[in-house]
Parts: sequence; C-alpha cells; structure tokens
Amino acid sequence: MSKLRVTVWGENIHEWKHESVRLHYPWGMHKCIADGLNEAEDIEAQTATLQEPEHGLTEEVLARTDVLTWWGHCAHAQVEDKIVARVQARVWEGMGLLALHSSHYSKIFKALMGSSCSLCWREAGELERVWVCNPGHPIAQGLGTYFEIPEEEMYGEPFGIPVPEEQIFISWFKGGEVFRSGCAWRRGNGKIFYFRPGHETYPTYHNANVKQVLKNAVRWARPAGSIWIDDAPNIPADKAPEPIEVRGGSVHDAHGKIA
Ligand code: ZN
Repeated sequence: MSKLRVTVWGENIHEWKHESVRLHYPWGMHKCIADGLNEAEDIEAQTATLQEPEHGLTEEVLARTDVLTWWGHCAHAQVEDKIVARVQARVWEGMGLLALHSSHYSKIFKALMGSSCSLCWREAGELERVWVCNPGHPIAQGLGTYFEIPEEEMYGEPFGIPVPEEQIFISWFKGGEVFRSGCAWRRGNGKIFYFRPGHETYPTYHNANVKQVLKNAVRWARPAGSIWIDDAPNIPADKAPEPIEVRGGSVHDAHGKIA
C-alpha cells in the first residue's frame, strides 16, 4: 500500500524571531511536526512554508497531498487569497485538513467554517488535561481516558465554530476553563480536524500523546471516494433517468444557459 502523503504547512516566523520558540523548535515547528509524522512507516510528510513561492502550496504540491496540516498565528493576513481558494477547492475534492492551535483564525479554517472562530485565551503555561470524548473514534486510538500537557496556553469557550459533526476531545485547564479541543467536520468530500494544543513557546509537538493524535488524525482524514466538486451541471429533460414532460416556463435556453 502506498504511503499517506502529508504536507505540513508552517507560518515559520516565530521560530526565527523569538528565542523562546527556537528553544523548542530549532529547525521550525513544521519540521518537528513532520518528523513526528514520519516516525510512522505508513506516512510520508514533507513541509511547506509561508515564505516559499505560492507559500509552498502550488497546484502540483496540492495535487499530490492527501492531507494538509496548517499552523499559523501572526501572519494569517499574509496568506494570499488565491492560495486559500486553491486549498479550499482541494478540501472539497477530498484532501484532508488538520487545523492546528492558532490556525482557528487562519483564512482557510474560517472560510471552511463560515463563522467567527473566536475564542478566549490566556498565556500562563498552565496544565491542560485533554479528555477523550469518543474512545471509539479513530483519532482517539492509543490514548487513555485523558492525557495531560504540563504547560500550555489556555483556550476557553465560547468557541465560535459551527457545531462539530464529531467531538473527539474536550480540554480542561488548571485555571478552570474548558474548550472543545478536538472537533471534526466534512466539507464536500474533505475531512477537517481542528486540534487545539500547540502553542509556540511550549514543547507540545514533542509530546508523545500529541504526536499520536496527529498520526491518527492524518490517517482518519485521508481522502475517500471519488473526487467531486459540484459545478452545477444541467441535466436536460431528455437525459433524465425516467421519461418526463417539460412543463412551465424557464429563463434558460435548451443548453441550460440563461437566455
Ligand atoms: Zn498560542
């Protein structure tokens, strides 16, 4: 069986500006995330960054990407709209997408959710306890009832997302807040998973449980079924599966164009 092809996209700015980030991710957060995925024999992860031409997300790269992971924070606005539209179309076709941590405010996640994606937050290096809501879900395999991350940023409710189609994790923080930290949706043929942990100044992507979740999630999000984007084809009456009589008026001509 061929390997699952993952592209790990990184904003790649904090790592070079802030010593507190470089400390944990000397080769970039995207490199650490890709290395974690590449521990699995069935996954082949490569990286792409904001600074590359077309942000590293050319038509060719996306065509050979089964699942794209996205980490962004301070430069969401620098991502070109035409690249966002290209990624969105690939998700509709069936490419999986993992939106990580502060990517809740990325253009691509907001476009796919169609809502504010707002939340509240606190940077205090506090304990996060990630509870498994759905132990039978493929993304929760290999985890216990919960796992803990000793130091994380807090994200709290309300989280401005559409009601998740599947809720896999809920986090509790030492300061008392809770958050829907693992949520899944489908858009078109594509599967989308939002996973909350991953603040840049903590070593979260080195955490064994977090690495397990990411491996599980890219496997879950792999494309299934045929590529499909609805371009609204017209089916004329004489091509209907059953014979029908045309009734009523129409502003369209015989070819389905507006007359
Ligand atoms: Zn953060």
